[in-house]
Amino acid sequence: MTAIERYKQIQEHVAQATERADRNRSSVRLMVVSKTWEAEDIRPIVEAGHAVYGENRVLEAVGKISLLPDHLEWHLIGHLQKNKVRKALTAFHTIHSMDSLELAQRINQVALDLDLKSRVMIQVNIGNEPQKHGFSVSDISSQLPRILALERLNVVGLMAIPPQVEMAEEARPYFRDLRVLRDRLEAEHGCSLPELSMGMTSDFEIAIEEGSTIVRVGSAIFGRRAKVV
Ligand SMILES: *Cc1c(COP(=O)(O)O)cnc(C)c1O
Repeated sequence: MTAIERYKQIQEHVAQATERADRNRSSVRLMVVSKTWEAEDIRPIVEAGHAVYGENRVLEAVGKISLLPDHLEWHLIGHLQKNKVRKALTAFHTIHSMDSLELAQRINQVALDLDLKSRVMIQVNIGNEPQKHGFSVSDISSQLPRILALERLNVVGLMAIPPQVEMAEEARPYFRDLRVLRDRLEAEHGCSLPELSMGMTSDFEIAIEEGSTIVRVGSAIFGRRAKVV
Protein backbone atom coordinates (compact mmCIF):
# COMPACT_ATOMS: atom_id res chain seq x y z
CA MET A 1 0.00 0.00 0.00
CA THR A 2 1.17 3.53 -0.70
CA ALA A 3 1.16 6.34 1.87
CA ILE A 4 -1.82 7.87 0.13
CA GLU A 5 -3.80 4.62 0.36
CA ARG A 6 -2.93 4.27 4.02
CA TYR A 7 -3.88 7.90 4.59
CA LYS A 8 -7.33 7.26 3.10
CA GLN A 9 -7.71 4.18 5.23
CA ILE A 10 -6.86 6.14 8.39
CA GLN A 11 -9.41 8.82 7.46
CA GLU A 12 -11.94 6.01 7.13
CA HIS A 13 -11.01 4.62 10.56
CA VAL A 14 -11.28 8.08 12.09
CA ALA A 15 -14.76 8.42 10.58
CA GLN A 16 -15.82 5.01 11.90
CA ALA A 17 -14.52 5.67 15.42
CA THR A 18 -16.28 9.02 15.43
CA GLU A 19 -19.52 7.35 14.44
CA ARG A 20 -19.13 4.63 17.10
CA ALA A 21 -18.64 7.35 19.69
CA ASP A 22 -21.77 9.10 18.46
CA ARG A 23 -19.81 12.23 17.61
CA ASN A 24 -19.85 14.52 14.59
CA ARG A 25 -17.18 13.74 12.02
CA SER A 26 -16.23 17.42 12.07
CA SER A 27 -15.44 17.29 15.80
CA VAL A 28 -12.26 15.26 15.20
CA ARG A 29 -9.34 16.29 13.03
CA LEU A 30 -6.51 14.14 11.72
CA MET A 31 -3.01 15.53 12.03
CA VAL A 32 -0.57 13.77 9.71
CA VAL A 33 2.70 13.51 11.64
CA SER A 34 5.42 14.03 9.05
CA LYS A 35 8.50 14.20 11.32
CA THR A 36 11.59 12.58 9.76
CA TRP A 37 9.94 12.44 6.31
CA GLU A 38 10.99 14.64 3.43
CA ALA A 39 8.84 17.26 1.73
CA GLU A 40 8.60 14.96 -1.28
CA ASP A 41 7.20 12.15 0.88
CA ILE A 42 4.55 14.53 2.19
CA ARG A 43 3.58 16.09 -1.13
CA PRO A 44 1.21 13.32 -2.35
CA ILE A 45 -0.85 13.74 0.82
CA VAL A 46 -0.89 17.50 0.30
CA GLU A 47 -2.08 16.93 -3.25
CA ALA A 48 -4.87 14.69 -1.96
CA GLY A 49 -6.12 17.77 -0.13
CA HIS A 50 -4.79 17.22 3.39
CA ALA A 51 -3.67 20.40 5.17
CA VAL A 52 -2.83 19.59 8.80
CA TYR A 53 0.69 18.34 9.63
CA GLY A 54 2.63 17.70 12.81
CA GLU A 55 6.36 18.08 13.37
CA ASN A 56 8.44 17.69 16.51
CA ARG A 57 11.52 19.75 15.62
CA VAL A 58 11.45 23.41 14.71
CA LEU A 59 14.38 23.57 12.27
CA GLU A 60 13.42 20.37 10.49
CA ALA A 61 9.90 21.73 10.05
CA VAL A 62 11.01 25.14 8.82
CA GLY A 63 12.96 23.47 6.00
CA LYS A 64 9.95 21.46 4.84
CA ILE A 65 7.51 24.32 5.22
CA SER A 66 9.56 26.36 2.76
CA LEU A 67 9.26 23.57 0.15
CA LEU A 68 5.52 22.95 0.43
CA PRO A 69 2.45 25.10 -0.38
CA ASP A 70 1.69 28.06 1.88
CA HIS A 71 -1.85 27.11 2.88
CA LEU A 72 -0.80 24.14 5.04
CA GLU A 73 -1.32 24.18 8.80
CA TRP A 74 1.75 23.07 10.78
CA HIS A 75 1.48 21.94 14.40
CA LEU A 76 4.42 21.59 16.80
CA ILE A 77 4.19 18.43 18.89
CA GLY A 78 7.75 18.15 20.28
CA HIS A 79 9.51 19.83 23.18
CA LEU A 80 10.25 23.48 22.36
CA GLN A 81 13.55 24.98 23.50
CA LYS A 82 13.37 28.59 24.60
CA ASN A 83 15.86 29.74 21.98
CA LYS A 84 13.62 28.38 19.19
CA VAL A 85 10.41 30.08 20.29
CA ARG A 86 10.67 32.94 17.81
CA LYS A 87 11.10 30.60 14.85
CA ALA A 88 8.34 28.35 16.16
CA LEU A 89 5.85 31.18 16.45
CA THR A 90 6.35 32.23 12.86
CA ALA A 91 6.27 28.67 11.49
CA PHE A 92 3.50 26.94 13.44
CA HIS A 93 -0.26 27.37 13.58
CA THR A 94 -0.51 25.69 17.00
CA ILE A 95 1.99 24.61 19.65
CA HIS A 96 0.72 21.43 21.32
CA SER A 97 3.77 21.02 23.53
CA MET A 98 3.67 23.99 25.90
CA ASP A 99 5.08 22.01 28.79
CA SER A 100 6.19 24.47 31.50
CA LEU A 101 5.29 27.84 32.97
CA GLU A 102 8.67 29.25 31.92
CA LEU A 103 8.01 28.24 28.32
CA ALA A 104 4.51 29.76 28.47
CA GLN A 105 6.01 33.04 29.68
CA ARG A 106 8.64 32.97 26.96
CA ILE A 107 6.05 32.28 24.23
CA ASN A 108 3.95 35.14 25.57
CA GLN A 109 6.89 37.53 25.50
CA VAL A 110 7.93 36.60 21.95
CA ALA A 111 4.31 36.78 20.77
CA LEU A 112 4.16 40.32 22.15
CA ASP A 113 7.37 41.19 20.27
CA LEU A 114 5.96 39.76 17.05
CA ASP A 115 2.58 41.36 17.71
CA LEU A 116 0.64 38.14 17.42
CA LYS A 117 -1.40 35.82 19.56
CA SER A 118 -0.10 32.29 19.88
CA ARG A 119 -2.48 29.32 19.70
CA VAL A 120 -1.23 26.81 22.26
CA MET A 121 -2.14 23.64 24.13
CA ILE A 122 -0.93 22.67 27.57
CA GLN A 123 0.99 19.40 27.58
CA VAL A 124 0.10 17.30 30.60
CA ASN A 125 2.24 14.41 31.84
CA ILE A 126 -0.86 12.33 32.32
CA GLY A 127 0.98 9.14 33.34
CA ASN A 128 3.26 10.99 35.77
CA GLU A 129 6.36 9.64 34.05
CA PRO A 130 9.63 11.18 35.28
CA GLN A 131 11.25 11.17 31.82
CA LYS A 132 8.36 12.92 30.07
CA HIS A 133 7.78 16.62 29.53
CA GLY A 134 4.58 18.30 30.60
CA PHE A 135 2.76 19.81 33.54
CA SER A 136 2.05 17.31 36.27
CA VAL A 137 -1.60 16.67 37.00
CA SER A 138 -1.04 17.89 40.56
CA ASP A 139 0.53 21.22 39.44
CA ILE A 140 -1.64 22.25 36.54
CA SER A 141 -4.57 23.46 38.57
CA SER A 142 -2.46 25.87 40.62
CA GLN A 143 -0.46 27.06 37.58
CA LEU A 144 -3.37 27.51 35.19
CA PRO A 145 -4.36 31.00 36.42
CA ARG A 146 -0.84 32.26 35.66
CA ILE A 147 -0.99 30.75 32.19
CA LEU A 148 -4.46 32.16 31.49
CA ALA A 149 -3.23 35.60 32.56
CA LEU A 150 -0.69 35.66 29.71
CA GLU A 151 -2.46 37.90 27.23
CA ARG A 152 -0.66 36.80 24.09
CA LEU A 153 -1.59 33.14 24.52
CA ASN A 154 -4.75 31.64 23.13
CA VAL A 155 -4.90 28.48 25.25
CA VAL A 156 -7.22 26.12 23.38
CA GLY A 157 -6.85 22.82 25.21
CA LEU A 158 -4.74 19.99 26.59
CA MET A 159 -2.33 17.55 24.97
CA ALA A 160 -0.92 14.29 26.31
CA ILE A 161 1.27 11.36 25.34
CA PRO A 162 0.22 8.47 27.58
CA PRO A 163 2.70 5.84 28.78
CA GLN A 164 3.65 3.10 26.33
CA VAL A 165 1.34 0.15 26.73
CA GLU A 166 1.11 -3.31 25.17
CA MET A 167 -2.52 -3.12 24.14
CA ALA A 168 -4.24 0.02 22.85
CA GLU A 169 -7.10 -0.54 25.24
CA GLU A 170 -4.72 0.06 28.17
CA ALA A 171 -4.31 3.67 27.00
CA ARG A 172 -8.02 4.36 27.49
CA PRO A 173 -7.83 5.32 31.20
CA TYR A 174 -5.17 7.95 30.41
CA PHE A 175 -7.31 9.49 27.67
CA ARG A 176 -10.26 9.51 30.00
CA ASP A 177 -8.15 11.10 32.75
CA LEU A 178 -7.14 13.90 30.38
CA ARG A 179 -10.77 14.57 29.45
CA VAL A 180 -11.88 14.55 33.10
CA LEU A 181 -8.98 16.85 34.00
CA ARG A 182 -10.05 19.22 31.22
CA ASP A 183 -13.65 19.23 32.49
CA ARG A 184 -12.47 19.93 36.02
CA LEU A 185 -10.12 22.76 34.97
CA GLU A 186 -12.89 24.38 32.95
CA ALA A 187 -15.24 24.22 35.91
CA GLU A 188 -12.67 25.43 38.47
CA HIS A 189 -11.23 28.25 36.40
CA GLY A 190 -14.20 29.26 34.29
CA CYS A 191 -12.17 28.86 31.10
CA SER A 192 -12.80 27.08 27.84
CA LEU A 193 -10.40 24.30 26.76
CA PRO A 194 -12.22 22.71 23.83
CA GLU A 195 -9.27 20.86 22.26
CA LEU A 196 -7.97 17.48 23.41
CA SER A 197 -4.86 16.49 21.44
CA MET A 198 -4.54 12.77 22.07
CA GLY A 199 -4.22 9.50 20.15
CA MET A 200 -1.46 8.22 17.86
CA THR A 201 -1.03 5.35 15.39
CA SER A 202 -1.62 2.59 17.92
CA ASP A 203 -4.54 4.07 19.83
CA PHE A 204 -6.23 6.92 17.94
CA GLU A 205 -9.59 5.12 17.73
CA ILE A 206 -9.75 4.75 21.50
CA ALA A 207 -8.68 8.37 21.94
CA ILE A 208 -11.59 9.42 19.70
CA GLU A 209 -14.00 7.35 21.79
CA GLU A 210 -12.69 9.23 24.85
CA GLY A 211 -13.13 12.69 23.36
CA SER A 212 -10.01 13.49 21.32
CA THR A 213 -10.48 16.45 18.98
CA ILE A 214 -7.20 16.00 17.13
CA VAL A 215 -5.37 12.71 16.61
CA ARG A 216 -1.67 12.68 15.67
CA VAL A 217 -0.89 9.85 13.27
CA GLY A 218 2.49 9.22 11.63
CA SER A 219 3.71 5.68 11.14
CA ALA A 220 0.32 4.25 10.16
CA ILE A 221 0.54 6.52 7.11
CA PHE A 222 4.23 6.82 6.21
CA GLY A 223 5.47 3.52 7.62
CA ARG A 224 8.05 3.03 10.31
CA ARG A 225 10.45 5.94 10.80
CA ALA A 226 14.08 5.15 9.96
CA LYS A 227 15.58 7.67 12.36
CA VAL A 228 15.20 7.47 16.09
CA VAL A 229 13.36 10.54 17.34
C1 LIG B 1 5.84 10.90 16.67
C2 LIG B 1 4.67 11.43 17.41
C3 LIG B 1 3.36 11.08 17.04
C4 LIG B 1 3.04 10.10 15.94
O1 LIG B 1 3.39 8.81 16.32
P1 LIG B 1 2.96 7.52 15.46
O2 LIG B 1 2.97 6.43 16.46
O3 LIG B 1 3.98 7.37 14.39
O4 LIG B 1 1.62 7.78 14.93
C5 LIG B 1 2.32 11.65 17.74
N1 LIG B 1 2.52 12.51 18.75
C6 LIG B 1 3.76 12.88 19.13
C7 LIG B 1 3.93 13.84 20.25
C8 LIG B 1 4.88 12.35 18.49
O5 LIG B 1 6.10 12.71 18.87
